[in-house]
Amino acid sequence: MQGSIGTTTYMAVACQKCKSEQVEMNKRGFSLPTMFRTLGNMIGLMLFLLVFYYIGIKTDILVVKTIDGDLDDAPAAATMAIIKGIGILALPLSALLGFLGSSRLIKACKACGFKAMVPKAK
Ligand SMILES: [Zn+2]
Repeated sequence: MQGSIGTTTYMAVACQKCKSEQVEMNKRGFSLPTMFRTLGNMIGLMLFLLVFYYIGIKTDILVVKTIDGDLDDAPAAATMAIIKGIGILALPLSALLGFLGSSRLIKACKACGFKAMVPKAK
């Protein structure tokens, strides 16, 4: 089935590396690495904000004095809201990014194992 996926037929492309024509085209599919990378970044950001939040609470950076002399912890509350927001969005967003580009084609050489993303057809 080389060079053909579904109803779309692609020209057989030789491997860029070894010039073999034993090249297989596959849809990239769901990208777990992308998902985990995104998830990792978001968890890292959350931890960073959490540390910032607790330091802010301890040092009063996140508590402002109003003109009346009252203490307003709105900045602290906003920071916590952002942390919660990231917590809620982290997984769905990572999954979404994993799905993005899942229909892109990957060219895989059977001879040497070389893999390359096939440029998008216009
Ligand atoms: Zn090759």
